[in-house]
Amino acid sequence: MTTHWIDGKLWEGTAERRGDVYDPATGSVASTVDFASADVVDEAVAAASRAWQTWRDASLAARSTVLFRFRELLNANKTELAALITAEHGKVASDAAGEVQRALENVEYACGIPQLLKGGFSENASTRVDVYSIQQSLGVVGVISPFNFPAMVPLWFVPNAIACGNTVVLKPSEKDPSASMFLADLWAQAGLPAGVLNVVHGDKVAVDRLLEHRDVKAISFVGSTPIARYVYETGTAAGKRVQALGGAKNHMVVLPDADLDLAADAAVNAGFGSAGERCMAVSVVVAVDPIGDELVAKIAERLPGLSVGDGRKPDSEMGPLVTAAHRDKVTSYVDAGVAEGARLVVDGREHAIDGDTAGFWLGPTLFDGVEPGMSIYRDEIFGPVLSVVRRPSYEEAVEVVNANPYGNGVAIFTNDGGAARRFQHEIEVGMVGVNVPIPVPVAYYSFGGWKQSLFGDSHAYGPEGVHFYTRTKVVTGRWLDPSHGGINLGFPQND
Ligand code: NAD
Repeated sequence: MTTHWIDGKLWEGTAERRGDVYDPATGSVASTVDFASADVVDEAVAAASRAWQTWRDASLAARSTVLFRFRELLNANKTELAALITAEHGKVASDAAGEVQRALENVEYACGIPQLLKGGFSENASTRVDVYSIQQSLGVVGVISPFNFPAMVPLWFVPNAIACGNTVVLKPSEKDPSASMFLADLWAQAGLPAGVLNVVHGDKVAVDRLLEHRDVKAISFVGSTPIARYVYETGTAAGKRVQALGGAKNHMVVLPDADLDLAADAAVNAGFGSAGERCMAVSVVVAVDPIGDELVAKIAERLPGLSVGDGRKPDSEMGPLVTAAHRDKVTSYVDAGVAEGARLVVDGREHAIDGDTAGFWLGPTLFDGVEPGMSIYRDEIFGPVLSVVRRPSYEEAVEVVNANPYGNGVAIFTNDGGAARRFQHEIEVGMVGVNVPIPVPVAYYSFGGWKQSLFGDSHAYGPEGVHFYTRTKVVTGRWLDPSHGGINLGFPQND
């Protein structure tokens, strides 16, 4: 059973509500997780508020010492953490290891906090008047994360937030809560004082309490677009700073001059890796004439060889979906695609599975002849379903992408540098790949989509993360210097 982590220890109360946590590869209930009531969230926020009174004044050296220790512990325990992710999420071991690696990069970025918080200084802005800026913490920050990256997404936020002197209440997904508990324990081992990081589990009840709580100053949210919009609107109406990252429908445009084997490999990896449960997964390939037939054939011929099975088995390349309900929803989109007239090239409902029949399985599905009016194009399916849209020209391909309400990631495959350069300029999407199908920015840039993929001004992590977690203060100061006859207390005059 998983319970909350508040003020440096496990919560000792009795939960009124709990949720089941599944092993997606066997379909069985592996454990349960306590759901926080508003009162439990209040306890966590109170602990975080108390801790902030001292953590805000911890020296930069003290903060970075904790971060460096945490980095070492995370690195030393990465295999165990990856196994926990696979057990509850279902993604294969190599995907889980990749997730932890990307998380580590964000910790490493935050280790540099003394450098990152350097402000500006202008000597003699006016006669003997100096002006300088300082960046201060906000207070208690709420982090609300989705199921699909149970370690990485919390670590997009927590290291930067605490490095900036804030304290945190993390509300991870109730579907795979163990990774955040593992991380909380590592933070404690690293010497993070009690109350600086708290973890509450649960659902809308816990989220709503964080959104309305007067002492929570900022919210970092990642999840589906309807909930992201709700979190942004509710949080900002309550006077909080909010960054809410939402869903996606990521396109990969393939121009006729592209290396089609490279493009097909990329489409398979980016479309079906982690069973399509990535916010940066490619879900639409836009094939520009005349390469459609050849590209579809190359993608299709790769799919029977994709081994779908328990993520713990070394040969598995794609695991199960996270829950039975989600698998059924994704399957219903395959049915809808057929009914709407898309050409079903590979049917994932019939793919061979190496695993327990009760697991939440679905093989990779490929549709051709998909059009923007179809539900399989319109909606974020978040599963192993790849749609091919065909367009006669570069311009019409770009039109399709730019008309889409989401704008998280996009990629272009081409050997034409001029076309790629034009694409990166014209495309209305926050993260662009050139012959790179999943262009997740490294930790020293920031991650964020456009349009309905992000609500708020700040992208996640990197420089924008540090900006989000700090308030800037500008000091204008004058020290009297008797040697310059500086005893006049009047307002400084400009020379
Ligand atoms: P979700 O929106 O269902 O849940 C996200 C979080 O919100 C969870 O902690 C959940 O408990 C909470 N929540 C759920 N319903 C709520 C409600 N009605 N009110 C308040 N809180 C609620 O998302 P998910 O299914 O866990 O994750 C998948 C989604 O996240 C996909 O849409 C994916 O694209 C998106 N995602 C986006 C990014 C990004 O960076 N843009 C990254 C990862 C995942």
